[in-house]
Amino acid sequence: MRISIIAGNWKMYKTDREAYELASFLKKSLKDVKSVKVVLCPPFTALSSVKRGIEGSDMFLGAQNMHWESEGAYTGEISASMLLSLGCQFVILGHSERRAYFGEKNQIVNLKLKAALENGLTPIVCVGERLEEREAGKTEEVVEDHITGAFEGVESEQAGKVVIAYEPVWAIGTGKTATPKQANDVHRFIREKLSALYSGEVAKNISILYGGSVKPENAKDLLSQADIDGALVGGASLKAESFEKIVRSGII
Ligand code: PEP
Repeated sequence: MRISIIAGNWKMYKTDREAYELASFLKKSLKDVKSVKVVLCPPFTALSSVKRGIEGSDMFLGAQNMHWESEGAYTGEISASMLLSLGCQFVILGHSERRAYFGEKNQIVNLKLKAALENGLTPIVCVGERLEEREAGKTEEVVEDHITGAFEGVESEQAGKVVIAYEPVWAIGTGKTATPKQANDVHRFIREKLSALYSGEVAKNISILYGGSVKPENAKDLLSQADIDGALVGGASLKAESFEKIVRSGII
């Protein structure tokens, strides 16, 4: 059985102090929630403070990106072992903003995915089509390309540890959400692809989150779909009240 995961992607928001305050507030307000895995992904600069803020809770710490090498002359970069040393258990990889603004291609996402798995971090791999791709009827083609590219050379045992986030680019930060059916259709397609790449068993156990303008008002409908196992939340994760409501929508 796949447990619901609600992850907050704080992007480039929150100073160290603000991040600590939000994290410690959520620790108190979500204390009673046991059946949802809550993951907070603040900017690198706030990882330590958020870790402190959620200490003693069931919440998890995640990063928004990492480099694939374990160390080296890569100015401005952060490695998996550095994230682990700060208490991270998750890392978002291949977010559409990284693909669009930082030139991340499948090959890079694949290197990062393998490095995360080798180091025991749970990757949350983002896949999804742009508006013109959806309008051209290429959603499945694009999503399949992202999935096969990210998982290239990843063995079945490791693949089962990955979390996928389907994030249609046209729905990120735009207020436009995929309908629950539109989202679930793509989630089902992803699961079929994973089944073909690995096995039905692996596909059944992989959590596939939806991301793209998830809000308290639409969370329940999205999360009640058979193949939607949680959400990756951007904007609405920056406010305690809206994030708390979304997490509570994931309670079964
Ligand atoms: C995201 O950044 O992963 C995201 C889904 O953003 P938003 O919820 O703001 O659309």
